[in-house]
Amino acid sequence: MNDSLRIGFGYDSHRLVAGRPLILGGVRVPFELGLTGHSDADCLVHALIDALLGAAGEGDIGRHFPDTDPALQGADSVALLERVVGLVGKAGWTLVNADLTLVAERPRIAPHVPAMTARLESVTGEGTVSIKAKTNERMGEIGRGEGMAAFAVCLLRQRGERVRG
Ligand code: MG
Repeated sequence: MNDSLRIGFGYDSHRLVAGRPLILGGVRVPFELGLTGHSDADCLVHALIDALLGAAGEGDIGRHFPDTDPALQGADSVALLERVVGLVGKAGWTLVNADLTLVAERPRIAPHVPAMTARLESVTGEGTVSIKAKTNERMGEIGRGEGMAAFAVCLLRQRGERVRG
């Protein structure tokens, strides 16, 4: 067996505004502000998508889901993740694991992490996703609560042909 392994990294950030629901990891989090963007602006899922695409050598989220596409307005980012997992899977890649970090000053994210993990793993496979959340210690734009950012790394495995003999 000659398994190939590939690492991927993704980053995303969105601004917080009034009048938008806050969607993180495919879960609606009660808060007075929400992330703004063309889709549901779920920066945690967008970072994961970019990590998967990067590992598979398939470009980035903007190439697959352009923010000029009217069909993607308000799109559920978990549905986009499902399409990316399908695309990466067609190329023979399986997700070993993904490690995600969300940086958000408010609200408290930890109580929502189990629901986010379950929603993402319903697409990526049980036991594949780790989500951590932290504040930015009140430093900079994120520390002032102007937005949120997310980082993701992932490992993909491609099964090699078994050598007979
Ligand atoms: Mg984004």
